[in-house]
Amino acid sequence: MRYVSTRDVTGAPGKRFSDILLEGLSADGGLYLPETYPQVSAEQLDAWRTLLAEEGYAALAFEIVSLYIDDIPAEDLRGIVQRAYEPSKFLDPAVVPVTQLSDGLWLAHLSNGPSVAFKDMAMQLLGELFAYELARRGETITIVGATSGDTGSSAMYALQGKPGVKVFMLSPAGRMTPFQQAQMFSIDDPAIVNIAVEGVFDDCQDIVKAINADADFKAKHRIGAVNSINWARLLAQVVYYFAAYLQMVPSVPEPGAPDEGGPRPVEGRISFAVPSGNFGNIAAGHIARQMGLPIHRLILATNENNVLEEFFRTGVYRVRGGAETLATSSPSMDISKASNFERFVFDLLGRDAARVRELFEDRLGTDGEFDLSGTDEFRGQVERFGFVSGTSTHQDRLEQIRRVHEADGVIIDPHTADGVKVALDSGVEGPIVVLETALPVKFAETIVEAIGVTPPRPERFDGIEDLPRHVVQVPNSAHAVRAIIDES
Ligand SMILES: *Cc1c(COP(=O)(O)O)cnc(C)c1O
Repeated sequence: MRYVSTRDVTGAPGKRFSDILLEGLSADGGLYLPETYPQVSAEQLDAWRTLLAEEGYAALAFEIVSLYIDDIPAEDLRGIVQRAYEPSKFLDPAVVPVTQLSDGLWLAHLSNGPSVAFKDMAMQLLGELFAYELARRGETITIVGATSGDTGSSAMYALQGKPGVKVFMLSPAGRMTPFQQAQMFSIDDPAIVNIAVEGVFDDCQDIVKAINADADFKAKHRIGAVNSINWARLLAQVVYYFAAYLQMVPSVPEPGAPDEGGPRPVEGRISFAVPSGNFGNIAAGHIARQMGLPIHRLILATNENNVLEEFFRTGVYRVRGGAETLATSSPSMDISKASNFERFVFDLLGRDAARVRELFEDRLGTDGEFDLSGTDEFRGQVERFGFVSGTSTHQDRLEQIRRVHEADGVIIDPHTADGVKVALDSGVEGPIVVLETALPVKFAETIVEAIGVTPPRPERFDGIEDLPRHVVQVPNSAHAVRAIIDES
């Protein structure tokens, strides 16, 4: 399998997985995608259903990931995937269990990993792949990242103790939830450096950009990234769409075969509702659907920051600036420029890199928006790609958290509540799986506001707020951050 950039107009031969793994963003500014999506047959799905039931999530993940990675020996790759999805790291050994609510919706639980947010599903694999590839090359890497909460702790838990990896994680001082701060700042490891910037998340991201734009500094420290534009993160996320489907849709028995009984909840296609920010999670659903997984609709849910919802409703993609980005009660979705969206547009436009380049460089560069509403591609999108969208408000999220708690005794986090609200309003027929993207303990304040109850806390986080904090506070300046990296 080779990989091409969404902006490559030269027709140059594609790259290998291990090269794009460490490269992240393509030098032409585009994002990498595989040259083709491997197709999965009904027989294959049947075999994988048995594999998942008998050997677990890691075994399924290996099968899917190995369709896309052919430059790591199979036995090595099997070890990488098994370490990433070792059941004991997850609160439930099923890794991604699926449950049903009394309103008919299903929940796929993606937040049982080390940092209790769905980003662990990708970051755990990325950490193992980085460690493997760096050792193979005898190289080191310095990760400089920005986080508003979930990415930082997920990356730290995944990269902690990995030889050859150093992490500098920037976060806006005083702006994460107390639990998120405790998760990150309690890590006591000289290779993990927390930098609290006196500013907002956008300031942190600007500093990361400035550091990456400094070619000498970047080369000197071998600076790399773990943000969601990395193809390996998307690839890891494709797996749980299959895992959820295989748990919900049992195989059709051979005609005349005795019915074994057992749960048989759903027949045919299912839909997914996905709380979205950078379009990473739902882009993985798009890829699973392109591989032939029987997905009916991909229901994109946003909060008040509705750039993506607006695109799927109108065909106009209009990015917004920091000043226009609202701080909401589902903060991991407070994004107004979805870094993975270009991948979908590439497929939507028949993989026409010249058109993608013109939209994302010229149109966004000069107008801050582009409009596909008049095109056949956009008009045929629901039939071909299955995207529908919706949005929620703070009141909607409180209401859903309350309703689900009263009906089922289950507490959902505010991001998952976005997904639940939009799924219920979508009018989509047939079973809908809402992807649960974080545990409520990360957003206790909103849960208390909704139901007056403090969300339960997994035992392993007991007392993390009382541990010594490892963090340096700096002014909002790239210079100050550079100095810290230089001195470490
Ligand atoms: C990152 C995140 C999202 C958004 O996912 P994208 O891949 O950026 O669309 C939603 N919910 C939670 C809890 C997250 O951490």
